[in-house]
This record gives sequence, structure tokens and C-alpha cells, in this order.
Amino acid sequence: MQKVSTRQRTLAAPLEFSGFGVHSGAPVTLTIEPAQPDSGITITRIMEDGRSVGPVSVHFSRVTRTTLCTTIDLGDSVSVATVEHVVSALSGLGVDNAHLILNGAECPILDGSAWPYVTAIIEAGLVVQPSFRRYIKIMRQVLVRNNEASAALEPYNGRMFDLEIDFDSRVIGRQRMIFDWTPRKYYHDVSRARTFGFVRDAKILRQAGYALGSSMENSITVHEDRILNPGGLRYEDEFVRHKLLDAIGDLALCGLPIYGRFRSYKGGHALNALVLHGLFASEANYEIVTAEELPYAFDALDDMPEGVEVRSYLRSVG
Ligand SMILES: [Zn+2]
Repeated sequence: MQKVSTRQRTLAAPLEFSGFGVHSGAPVTLTIEPAQPDSGITITRIMEDGRSVGPVSVHFSRVTRTTLCTTIDLGDSVSVATVEHVVSALSGLGVDNAHLILNGAECPILDGSAWPYVTAIIEAGLVVQPSFRRYIKIMRQVLVRNNEASAALEPYNGRMFDLEIDFDSRVIGRQRMIFDWTPRKYYHDVSRARTFGFVRDAKILRQAGYALGSSMENSITVHEDRILNPGGLRYEDEFVRHKLLDAIGDLALCGLPIYGRFRSYKGGHALNALVLHGLFASEANYEIVTAEELPYAFDALDDMPEGVEVRSYLRSVG
């Protein structure tokens, strides 16, 4: 019997999310459709006049801006912002192939985490596809720096994330999270962590045209040494967990899951994009391997959240 965890996965049914962009404040509907094996995560934007632009791969080579969120250029002067949370949800649950269709310029912020995406994906279930899953296996260290901030990719037998943040705020301070990825751990330990912002930055951001849709409904709001949200935090160290959520989404923009260790100190979207540019600057940094070629039986995909139906194509083809 062949192991299905070595195969690619897509959604069992299309999903629809309506909301508004955290930066634009504009209403938007995002549909996520199942997609063919080896197509990866692609995106199409439907314009107001009905014209569609795309699909294009959600790939780091198309990242145009990393100010506060990750923006993808679709060509024809059309872009989509804030892709990192939905891409994080897909990557975090081990979904290889999906097609995102938006009728606006920014993905909906929903509750500021990946939780609404993750719960909907789990409810829909997944389908295992015939093609082998492929990984980008890190062969030697790639390190990028920006002053004291840094991001690195290193050889490691597994998918490991080690993030540390250090904010000049008593409610955040120094937080570190070491995370050995499986979909079940992503679901429990990462997916509910919300984005956050400081009251002191809000006015400047709004004047610059950002955070127009931001509120305590979709962000942890920090004012001096207090959290203003009436419900408090979802995790004691929700801040570093959200940085991990973002990093999982940003790193998925290399097109395949990374097999190796990611380390980040005071990182963010810009450094996450930069480390991918560094990775692909030399072919000696990585190898593309199928799940079957990995040095040991990497079975993280067997550790799915409770209640998610993963339908095997092997069953349907006998
Ligand atoms: Zn985020």
C-alpha cells in the first residue's frame, strides 16, 4: 500500500469568504477553488468591469511590496495585497494546490488570523491527488540581515520554524517560538493568532492610506502597556505566533513547501521575501526533491487536525 501522505492535496470543495481589506477598508469576496496537481497556489482578480486578470502563481518573484503586508503583482498594473494569511492557512494545513479568486485589491482580513480559513478548509475536507508532493530541500545556510534583524534558512530534517521577536512594549517584549510543523500543530498553536498594532502608529498609518479597515474586531490593539481588546489575548504569546503565521504564508511563496529550518530574529514580510531571493540566488543552496526522496520518512502530513476528512484518490481508483 502506497503512503498517501507523500501525495499532493487540494480542497474537496470551493470555499467563499466575504469581508473587507484591513488596509483599504474596501469590501471583497475571496473564493478558494480546488486546483489541478502541480498547479500550486494561483490567484485571479476579477475587475469591476468584469475583466479577469490571472491566474498567476502566488510567487515571491511577484511580490511588489512588503510594507505591512505582502502584495502580489498580477500584471497589467493589477495587484492583490495581504495574501499572507490565506496562503498561510493553505500551507499550514498542507494544501498544495488551490486557486484564489478575488473581486478586490486586498484579501479579506476576517478576524485578523488564519482561523476562519482553517476552519472552513477543515469542514470542506481535502482530496489527495496522484502527483507526489515536492519539497525545496535546503542544502546550505542562507542568511539575510537588516541591522540587528535577521532571517535564515538552514538544512534540517523536517519543517522547523524558530522565531524570536523583541518589542519595546511591556505587553509584548521578547517572545520566542520553536515550531516543528505538522498540520495539527498549525491548527492548534498558530492559526488563531491575530495581527497586532499600536495605537501610537494608527494615525500615521491611516494618513498614509493603511489600516483603514483595522479595528479591534481584526487586530490586537496595543496602547502603551495595555491590550485594549475586551477579550484579551487568544494565546499568552499571540504576537510571536502571529509572526510565525505570517512567515509560514510568506515562505510558501517559493511555490513548494520548504524542507529545512527557518530562523528569524525581529523579522517580517520584507526579510521573509529577502531570504527567498537569497535562497534562489544559487542552485547550490537547495534541491527539489519528491516526498519519497526525503532522507527519512517525513510523515508530518499524517498528523492532521481532528475531524478533517482526507479523501484518498487511491480509494476512488481502487
Ligand atoms: Zn499577518
